[in-house]
Amino acid sequence: MDIVLTAERCLMSNYHGALFLGFMSCAPRNLIPSKIFFNILFPPVKVKDGKAVIAPYGTRKIEAALIENGFNVTVVPPEKISKFLDKAKIIGVTTNDPLGLGPASTTFAGKYGLVKEEPYNAYCFRNLLTTLRQSKAKIAVGGAGAWQLADEKVMEELGIDIVVIGEGEKTVPELFGRILNGENLKGIFYGEVAERIPIIKGATVGGIVEIARGCGRGCKFCQPTLQRLRSRSLEDILKEAEINARVNRFVTLHAEDVLRYKAEGFRVNEEEVLKLFSSVAKISKVGISHFSLASLASAEKLIEEISNLLGIPNKEQPWLAGQTGIETGSVRLVKEYMAGKVLPFKPEDWCEIVEQAFGICSDNHWVPCATLVIGFPKETEDDVMRTIELLDRLRRYKSLVVPLFFVPLSALKDQRPFRSEDLKSYHWELMQKCWEHDLRWIRILADEYLAKMPIIPRAFLKKFIGWAVKEGEKRLKEIIKLTS
Ligand code: SF4
Repeated sequence: MDIVLTAERCLMSNYHGALFLGFMSCAPRNLIPSKIFFNILFPPVKVKDGKAVIAPYGTRKIEAALIENGFNVTVVPPEKISKFLDKAKIIGVTTNDPLGLGPASTTFAGKYGLVKEEPYNAYCFRNLLTTLRQSKAKIAVGGAGAWQLADEKVMEELGIDIVVIGEGEKTVPELFGRILNGENLKGIFYGEVAERIPIIKGATVGGIVEIARGCGRGCKFCQPTLQRLRSRSLEDILKEAEINARVNRFVTLHAEDVLRYKAEGFRVNEEEVLKLFSSVAKISKVGISHFSLASLASAEKLIEEISNLLGIPNKEQPWLAGQTGIETGSVRLVKEYMAGKVLPFKPEDWCEIVEQAFGICSDNHWVPCATLVIGFPKETEDDVMRTIELLDRLRRYKSLVVPLFFVPLSALKDQRPFRSEDLKSYHWELMQKCWEHDLRWIRILADEYLAKMPIIPRAFLKKFIGWAVKEGEKRLKEIIKLTS
């Protein structure tokens, strides 16, 4: 066996089909006993003939690129990796947040977060690397969180030989080829943009199928902003949907904004988006990963058509949930950091667009799971108050709103990260508003969402959510008391 691919344990679970549960990997590790977390909430993926039946989408992409380049590859879950430590020449690891430095982890966990405890994802990555250090194989790490490892000291401490940042489909086969030809390759490599995105060979976690890559809206704090939008062919998407439908109940269409599939500029291409949804719906139930509020507000009729087409609401799919970004209610900050996010509208209209989009979602059984950014560079009290006012306007719409600390990336990479110690009274007011908003909706959403899960994890999760709500309220009050 030349190449073995794996991922840290938090990524190697199908979360009972409830993909959004995966965000709990950013939670502090003392929140739930590990046995419950890994056996009930994040059960391991199944293995057949020694291979993982499902794997993270990024791992599947690299597997496909390597197979197409003639390499011998096996994808295994981390709990089976010890069998390959002696045999593999290269072990490739996918990671989303290896050191817990992503926005969600740094907000809720870690040295600078609300609870000073390592998040699950960083814990799992550290554990996996400790196991891999027993192997003589070259250790290569890539994935959305690879940027956190772009430091030779960190790589040496963890025993990593290669870090690949960015797209891997073109660059990883080249690098692995050089290693297998005997080159002692080490260091940080930046992936070249792949002209052709290969088709996965096996099913993916959450039934994810990438429909487009990149964004191009140019938000200064975001990574995908660097890549221009590229939509995949419907033919390739359907092939991947079919592979997933054999194992998964849902196919989750993934892009930074699913509504911009085959878009020209910032205008939604309604015909192509509808064709995409109707074609995939013939193969499987359809979910989505992300959408943009501006795209949604500009395409009200399309949203209604998609919901009608998918027969939403129904027992298995009470709504269509997707992640989206509000980020701020301050026009000043919109202009400064994310003017492109608002297109085809104007920054001055951002709050109206957000409310309009939430209203359209509510009318058509879509649920926005929205993020806010706390602590933008040069943020003022007035900026935060504008966001609080916007939250008041969104109160009546079924949705979740999650505040995340600013993490310096992309054009803002030289700025200081925001930390829990930086929280001022007005930030706490915003956090409290988000908490009240989420409390209002979370039990309803959880009841509807969990209805499709098997009875034991469902009963456990219901209890857990009830407990988490009470515990969260208690802790928030304690933290506010401590810091005010
Ligand atoms: S719209 Fe979203 S994905 Fe696109 S650049 Fe802005 S934050 Fe990034």
